[in-house]
Amino acid sequence: MGNDMSQKHPTQEHLAGYASGALSEGMSLLIAAHNTYCPKCRADVERFETLSSALMMEEPAPVATSSPSLEAAMRALDAPICTRPIAEDPLGIVPMPIRAELDGPLDSLGWKFRLPGLHEYTFDGFDGEHVSLMRIRPGTGVLHHTHEGEEATLILSGQMEDQGVRYGRGDVALNDHNDNHKPRVVGDEICYCLIVMSGNLKFTGPVGRALNLFTR
Ligand SMILES: [Zn+2]
Repeated sequence: MGNDMSQKHPTQEHLAGYASGALSEGMSLLIAAHNTYCPKCRADVERFETLSSALMMEEPAPVATSSPSLEAAMRALDAPICTRPIAEDPLGIVPMPIRAELDGPLDSLGWKFRLPGLHEYTFDGFDGEHVSLMRIRPGTGVLHHTHEGEEATLILSGQMEDQGVRYGRGDVALNDHNDNHKPRVVGDEICYCLIVMSGNLKFTGPVGRALNLFTR
């Protein structure tokens, strides 16, 4: 059954893990970036933070101010959502959490050719995860691939279509099953996206088999 509310957003498990600090670094980056676009997920994270700080009540409070009780935290779950405006990034399409990981502007990065129309810049220093930016020309398919782990894509610009769903700026596409899917960049704008893979990704098909050699 399609669920339009959760589609295009991280899962509640992701957001709870992010709020508690339990989520992996790469996925935390993706969620921090998504949240610059998404008031709904920002509010969810705030509520998880309130709840988890209440659950840690028994530990000595570092400051002398009165700590929130669990009851108060539960009441806060019903409180109206405060959606603070996030300052628009004046310098381009890259949200601040991702920008903080970059050495310079997009054009200056060490983009690697992957396929006609598709370049990839891979971040260093994410243990056990593959975290990268992709730059994809409209009309380009992002290959058939299968997953052993979880893959999350955050669209920074342009539009991507996969299995009948169109993803635009700020949307998250999640794939954690073993089926083949076939994302394709549509429209007329170059698509930049952040990709986080928690397991080994295997490209399938003749070109894909060659590609596996240099994505390992
Ligand atoms: Zn969201």
